Amino acid sequence: MPQNLLDFDLDGLTAWLSELGEKPFRAKQVYHWIHQAGEAEFGQMTDIAKSLRETLQQRAVVSASNVNFAHTSSDGTRKWLFDVGVGKSAVGDSSGGGQIVRNGIETVFIPEEDRGTLCVSSQVGCALECTFCSTGRQGFNRNLSVAEIIGQLWYANHVLRGEDNRLSRADNYAGNVSAERPVTNVVMMGMGEPLANFENVVTALGIMLDDHAYGLSRRRVTVSTSGIVPAMDRLAERCPVALAVSLHAPNDALRDQIVPINKKYPLAELMAACRRYLVHAPRDFITFEYVMLAGVNDRPEHARQIIELVRDVPCKFNLIPFNPFPDSGYQKPGAESLRVFRQILQDAGLVVTTRKTRGDDIDAACGQLAGQVADKSGRVMKRLNREAA
Ligand code: SAH
Ligand code: SF4
Repeated sequence: MPQNLLDFDLDGLTAWLSELGEKPFRAKQVYHWIHQAGEAEFGQMTDIAKSLRETLQQRAVVSASNVNFAHTSSDGTRKWLFDVGVGKSAVGDSSGGGQIVRNGIETVFIPEEDRGTLCVSSQVGCALECTFCSTGRQGFNRNLSVAEIIGQLWYANHVLRGEDNRLSRADNYAGNVSAERPVTNVVMMGMGEPLANFENVVTALGIMLDDHAYGLSRRRVTVSTSGIVPAMDRLAERCPVALAVSLHAPNDALRDQIVPINKKYPLAELMAACRRYLVHAPRDFITFEYVMLAGVNDRPEHARQIIELVRDVPCKFNLIPFNPFPDSGYQKPGAESLRVFRQILQDAGLVVTTRKTRGDDIDAACGQLAGQVADKSGRVMKRLNREAA
């Protein structure tokens, strides 16, 4: 099997090339070609010695996962469904688990005036089983590799850059969004719990931040976690990027029900971990995400409990209206309860944003991400399942 060079950070690539007798500066050149120029063809890497280009052609590839589905929403939001191979469906999914399925992960690009944000996945499925999350409902299948994580960013830049050039910036992207680097911000808010795939996520984050690769600032890369406390401390040590914490409930009784990891790391521990993280964080606040579930966590008393809970944690709130999916058992809150809830938080001096729903027509919202790649004929899957039986 050829080595996928998207699996390496610069140290890894340097070590791999040194085994082939190449000097470290060669690794830097190849790394620039891959991540800055978005080049996958070694033959095009013109300033690299022909002999090395030939060796690379024999032994390596630069390969993001295949895209099975791509869609552009009416508001410009883009979504790609990547095929990440076959695997057994998770126990607890609608089929009862164990079926051979094609695994899919999703990536969403949200263009705005002054930035382009990519929502990146970290796992196929998720083991944490938050009750309102369609990824959680699928159960856990596997961790994504570094190449599968960074491949989402590589691919998005590659595709969007090509389009920008063709359009000769007809879209008139302003500010930080350039034709060279369409993705200016990354949020690890796609499928999966990033801190449960810690090593691969930290390596991928390092590549995003590396000036020799994407050069994103720590403030523009956000990890979203449901609150795996020890891993939050390790992230602070290893790679302190901006942190978003999925709070979703103001007390342990309710959070135990909807975010089950709370039974292991209850709110007092989570708040203490947020305070510790802030010592290292690139921003001076934590973002708390709060999915609004009608009649469950959206009442005025919940807002008042939140104010007490976060008294000692510098933070901002992002209220996310629940995004419905079939058989979820939950509903979106009404506009009025959202308004009242928001007002109570704001009156206490908290900064609150309400997430705009983007890409509604393509189900692009986080937590709405499909788990399994549709196999149109069904034949391949039937055969694989027969073989597995
Ligand atoms: N596992 C991480 C990151 C992925 S989920 C986490 O939980 O933080 C990204 C965000 O989308 C989280 O805040 C999550 O709670 C939220 N989310 C999940 N399902 C949702 C839904 N159906 N509607 C709205 N937001 C949802
Ligand atoms: Fe996993 Fe996050 Fe979904 Fe919870 S909300 S099940 S942690 S992806």
